[in-house]
Amino acid sequence: MGKPTGFKEYRRVGLKYLPVTERIKNYKEFDKHYTQDEAHEQGARCMDCGIPFCHGDTGCPVDNYIPEFNDLVFRGQWKEALLNLHSTNNFPEFTGRICPAPCESACTLGINEEPVSIKAIERTIVETGFENGWVIPRPPREISGYAVAVIGSGPSGLAAAQQLARLGHKVTVFEKNEAPGGLLRYGIPDFKLEKSVIDRRVKQMEAEGVAFKTNTFAGKDITGKELMARYDAIVLAMGSEKPRDLPIPGREGEGVHFAMEFLTANNRAVAGHAPENQILATGKHVIVIGGGDTGSDCVGTSVRHGAAKISQLEIFPKPPEERPASTPWPYWPNKLRTSTSHEEGGAVLDRLWSINTKEFVRDENGKLTAIKVVDVKFAGGKFEEIPGTEREIKADLVLLALGFVHPVREGLLEQLSAEGLTIDSRGNVSATFGTHQTSIPKVFAAGDVRRGQSLVVWAISEGRKAAAAVDRYLKSLDA
Ligand SMILES: Cc1cc2nc3c(=O)[nH]c(=O)nc-3n(C[C@H](O)[C@H](O)[C@H](O)COP(=O)(O)OP(=O)(O)OC[C@H]3O[C@@H](n4cnc5c(N)ncnc54)[C@H](O)[C@@H]3O)c2cc1C
Ligand code: SF4
Repeated sequence: MGKPTGFKEYRRVGLKYLPVTERIKNYKEFDKHYTQDEAHEQGARCMDCGIPFCHGDTGCPVDNYIPEFNDLVFRGQWKEALLNLHSTNNFPEFTGRICPAPCESACTLGINEEPVSIKAIERTIVETGFENGWVIPRPPREISGYAVAVIGSGPSGLAAAQQLARLGHKVTVFEKNEAPGGLLRYGIPDFKLEKSVIDRRVKQMEAEGVAFKTNTFAGKDITGKELMARYDAIVLAMGSEKPRDLPIPGREGEGVHFAMEFLTANNRAVAGHAPENQILATGKHVIVIGGGDTGSDCVGTSVRHGAAKISQLEIFPKPPEERPASTPWPYWPNKLRTSTSHEEGGAVLDRLWSINTKEFVRDENGKLTAIKVVDVKFAGGKFEEIPGTEREIKADLVLLALGFVHPVREGLLEQLSAEGLTIDSRGNVSATFGTHQTSIPKVFAAGDVRRGQSLVVWAISEGRKAAAAVDRYLKSLDA
């Protein structure tokens, strides 16, 4: 610990954001990492508390060495801090921007003070590394002669590919979209993560020997049988892409879309490839059904389109403003979260809780005009309607942000099932966390395809663990 009294001397200071009126004019990131002086003070707030819950079971899923890098930042040893961070996390620039930071809700200082700003320090370390040219390709010293196929280029596939290439294996990443990144590129809006942040990392990986085959749909352009024949090992990192639907009256017809249709089209437009008939919220009464990250991203995007009104609906009750007794420190608190997109909503946004949608109301021409809703209470493990609360909310555009049920089975997963791949009871690829080996010995699974819809930090963690397991498996073939 650099400064024993640091946590008493300095208050937590977050990253500085552009004012709302400025940032909603475009899709650019609107926050900036710390200056070195700011980082020095914020790093000094870490108490080195002895049992760092921030990287225990309740904390960081990639097991970042948080007290150590805080100390290095306090001392101004930036290159060492970067080395330390990269030893556990391939992509701190992603997590430093969009991780919900379970580390901070487990920080010991957070018991009676504001926690250490770990995520902002993480981002500052890696951006300092890029600014100084310290993030360079690290190709392997020896080549193993084994070939590995990674299916999907989201954070889990990228982490697995980078680890495997550095271990000397010949890695090919198959991606059905036109560019790598998975949900980092086609789900998460640019105002949370600009896509140049992915591009510079992909460039590093290519220089380390990773081959990216984009616009290549595994299961169609190359079959499961062909993959099995051509590669010594396969990592399935295909995400969980089947969206949860809301099959209520009026679902069919224009005006009701999955959130990903809206967000993906917008990200493509920002990248200069606007699809024909892009779904726009401009001037519309928008209803976002679902209160999570995806819903929040729909709000921020609708604000930038210039929506007339946005209502975000959640079936669960409004959480308390402060950490409730049911999720004590160091657990992830079930409390109200107000994202930067919610702040941007201002007077245009209504956040509604304990509300269920019963019907998409359409006029005689089939045009969406409203949604029919009812208030509900959660009792005895189920939702009960409150009589007399049924009403309509005006709607021109509805975005379904209800999460994802499981990976898409048609295509590659069906083909591999014929070869012996097992799917678990939730519809995900069956493999144990830590070993990641599926029922086919040479096939491994990582990220949302295995654990279901989750977080970027878990995807990176799983990609790294799957890579280590593949390496052990390939070495066993040598014996
Ligand atoms: C809108 C939205 C916002 C989110 N915001 C956050 C956030 O702020 N913070 C956070 O931590 N998490 C967030 N998440 C969750 C996070 O993005 C995911 O948990 C994470 O991306 C999962 O990584 P993955 O690599 O397992 O899968 P994905 O990122 O889904 O990547 C899977 C890749 O596989 C490709 N693929 C699938 N099938 C095939 C095939 N047959 N052939 C070739 N390629 C294929 C896909 O095209 C895709 O590129 C968000 C999710 C969404 C939808
Ligand atoms: S990856 Fe997430 S949980 Fe881990 S240190 Fe960074 S912000 Fe915290």
